[in-house]
Amino acid sequence: MDRTKLRWNGWGFAAHKDELAAREEVWAWLAGELRMPALLATPARPLEDVELPPGALSAGDRMALAAIVGVDRVRDDKFERAFHTRGRSTLDLLTLRAGDLSAAPDAVVTPRATEEVLAVLALAAEREMAVIPFGGGTGDGVAAPRGPFSAAIALDISQMDRLLALDPVSQIATAQAGIAGPALEKALAAKGFMLGHYPEAFEFSTLGGWIAGDGTGQAANRYGSAKDWLASAQLATPRGLFAAEGPLKDLLIGSQGRFGVITEATLRVRRLPVVTGQRAYLFRDFASGIAAVRDAAQAEIPTVLLRLSDAEETRFWHGYSQAGKAKGLAARLMRRYLDWRGFGEKASGLVARFEGEATSVSRARRDFAAIVKKHGALSFRVDEPWKKSAFFAPYLRDSLLDRGVGYDAIETAASWSKLESVYGAVQGALESAIAASVPREGAKGVVMGRVGPSTANCANLVFTYVFPRALKNDVEQAAAIKKAAMDAIAASGPATDRAGADVRRAVKMALDPKGVLNPAA
Ligand SMILES: Cc1cc2nc3c(=O)[nH]c(=O)nc-3n(C[C@H](O)[C@H](O)[C@H](O)COP(=O)(O)OP(=O)(O)OC[C@H]3O[C@@H](n4cnc5c(N)ncnc54)[C@H](O)[C@@H]3O)c2cc1C
Repeated sequence: MDRTKLRWNGWGFAAHKDELAAREEVWAWLAGELRMPALLATPARPLEDVELPPGALSAGDRMALAAIVGVDRVRDDKFERAFHTRGRSTLDLLTLRAGDLSAAPDAVVTPRATEEVLAVLALAAEREMAVIPFGGGTGDGVAAPRGPFSAAIALDISQMDRLLALDPVSQIATAQAGIAGPALEKALAAKGFMLGHYPEAFEFSTLGGWIAGDGTGQAANRYGSAKDWLASAQLATPRGLFAAEGPLKDLLIGSQGRFGVITEATLRVRRLPVVTGQRAYLFRDFASGIAAVRDAAQAEIPTVLLRLSDAEETRFWHGYSQAGKAKGLAARLMRRYLDWRGFGEKASGLVARFEGEATSVSRARRDFAAIVKKHGALSFRVDEPWKKSAFFAPYLRDSLLDRGVGYDAIETAASWSKLESVYGAVQGALESAIAASVPREGAKGVVMGRVGPSTANCANLVFTYVFPRALKNDVEQAAAIKKAAMDAIAASGPATDRAGADVRRAVKMALDPKGVLNPAA
């Protein structure tokens, strides 16, 4: 992927035209939702107007790096340093849009082979340069450290992007860790296989980032997360190359590049599904939807995706899609019918997806239909392919940021018995923090929740929230809102795992004694 075609301070391709940007009727509707008189243009600062901190890489270190990877693979031009300064969380984007590049690496090094990664790490340890492993740059933990290092380099492995092997009999594949989601699925599909890890950031995130970031894909109900599909990995460290199997493999999950650079990963893959199908449902309220999703998970019905929106998310996205459109007779009749049946303002929408062999899909659909019926849901056809809407929100976020609106998300997991209390606590914390930070009296935010991938024991809860930005201090505002949600999550979760932290420290000392790997993560 040609990085120069991507936004250094936003999501995805610079040439992407987000449909929202031009829909004035949506802006008027959104201003009403946020109780703002209007939403005005708040463009980001262009790269030409922004200053980078002076690069700290010495000529000698640059030459030594160039001797390993080649001169044209050690870059310190403005775009490369700016692109690699931060991830793409909302806080990161607000910081970048304001022109704050203080966390820029001094240079970006782009290896093509594991041997080059090993040599760069050995050099970094010898010359005390910090190294920040960088895949797609969509996640947390890619900012350069301040501190006692001679320089900080982003080690961008996105050109290590090949599928190396596939054993179709054992259903095991090995790929280089810099491969991005679409390229990996395309290469596997050409041989009749798939992995099925679809985070919202799928298009721009990489296999190594999925492991080191420990995230969840939207279709994890069936295809699992890294802890399920990762069979083993190859880890390059300043001490040499390790085959990460067993406990070390598990320690890589969520390691954020602190133990080493994952250069290859061996994955449990599946055959491409023969049949796919999707259906939408409406429940009278969120609680009955939760009960249905839990029943389906505990009955082990093989759904690929169950995405249950709370009433606010259901209402908001319906309002968004209908903004500015005249309400026809059919829509008015449908509204009356739903009200009459008790699907009023508390109604919660669910999307279900099924994939697999024809018989198992039809059995899963039938069993799932019986469960939702028991919980009083109405069923609807879905025409739009799931993948069309699965990855659109990050582009939408840029359009919102361009009009003074913040859009952020936070995710947690809770056991079924605690799910509703955690949901209430986080939702309440977000609402209070937004109310305390809005830029004018009477303005408000919209806080939405949903249940994502689930197992028999627990489910993911995702909160997204839209709020009018306090433009003079929007980084602090966004950080305070997120902190309020994280505090609510921490208060309802298990205590910090002290023993686990000690083990991770010991592993770090063994693999990276000089502490050069991602010190700021
Ligand atoms: C809009 C948006 C939506 C998102 N949606 C989801 C979602 O649905 N599910 C989800 O799980 N996450 C999501 N994320 C978070 C992020 O996309 C994931 O964590 C993703 O896995 C990061 O992959 P990446 O290749 O971009 O990693 P990067 O951002 O490049 O790196 C993330 C961390 O991993 C380290 N790292 C990267 N590659 C390697 C490697 N090869 N070896 C060692 N360390 C490495 C980095 O040093 C850094 O600490 C989202 C992020 C955004 C901005």
